[in-house]
Amino acid sequence: MRPRLLHGLSGVSVTLFCVALLSVRHRTPGLSGTGPGENSTKPGALALTDIYIAVKTTQSFHRSRLQLLLDTWISRARKQTYIFTDGEDQALQERLGPHLVVTNCSAEHSHPALSCKMAAEFDAFLASGLSWFCHLDDDNYLNPEPLLTLLSSFSPTWDVYVGKPSLNRPIEASEPMPNNQMRPVRFWFATGGAGFCINRKLARKMVPWASGPNFLSTSTRIRLPDDCTVGYIVECKLGRRLLPSPLFHSHLENLRILGAAQLPNQVTLSYGVFEKKLNAIDLEGPFSPQEDPSRFRSLHCLLYPDTSWCPQQATQ
Ligand code: UDP
Ligand code: MN
Repeated sequence: MRPRLLHGLSGVSVTLFCVALLSVRHRTPGLSGTGPGENSTKPGALALTDIYIAVKTTQSFHRSRLQLLLDTWISRARKQTYIFTDGEDQALQERLGPHLVVTNCSAEHSHPALSCKMAAEFDAFLASGLSWFCHLDDDNYLNPEPLLTLLSSFSPTWDVYVGKPSLNRPIEASEPMPNNQMRPVRFWFATGGAGFCINRKLARKMVPWASGPNFLSTSTRIRLPDDCTVGYIVECKLGRRLLPSPLFHSHLENLRILGAAQLPNQVTLSYGVFEKKLNAIDLEGPFSPQEDPSRFRSLHCLLYPDTSWCPQQATQ
């Protein structure tokens, strides 16, 4: 399980502010309709087709969670999105073809099972040749337009690891040394439940610890889950830093405090149980909380009102 601590962000607020400013400054308005892939205006500008999006799921969530994502944001990023699961599903295979990746990872919420899937995602990204890797959980809504805006704001010469810090301080872990001693290490990591992205330049440097069986062995060495392992590799092995962004959200933070006006600018959103209550974004209609408890359908209709299943606005 991930460390269930609040995402207090005070320690990194200055950097967060800078990243927020960057993303506002570079924002290109008016990308809508067909999807951002076709919308890159500047030659050489980042397009959705440059991004490899990996969604982690498990067989028991194919109906309860994945369907919602396929109906909503994945429908706008289908060609870029790959679903990593642990069990065969004939109907899903027919619907997704090669975009459904059935790994040999076991269907459990254990560190090795989750690290096994992250390793599969990472290897598939490396093989894809694309410029960016973004990891998401199956309870995330991804909005491609702010994602593109954010990723476009980074220089291609940087090594980039961007996401939401899981804790308000670096995590402390122990790293085994060759002499059988343990050495304390401290590092920041992006919570996997909010999604995070890594550019290819950095991903290539991560290969010795993250590709093939190496990811699982790295994760086993520090005895931490997959998302912590990514942070450990980036910060402790490569000396790079997590770039914190306030635009990624997991259900371990109070999602109701996001204002309606801010919602369309967030890169990821989530829903789930937090402090024994359903934690979801606060959005009026068009669907009721009973029909749409995650609020993802309502959000999707706000972002893409032309979607066939969204209630059509009366024409004047
Ligand atoms: N998950 C998985 N195998 C499991 C349980 C969960 O791959 O046995 C995935 C799940 O599909 C999701 C992520 O792990 O993408 C996190 O699971 P969940 O949201 O249930 O837990 P959280 O860690 O957010 O509390
Ligand atoms: Mn979750």
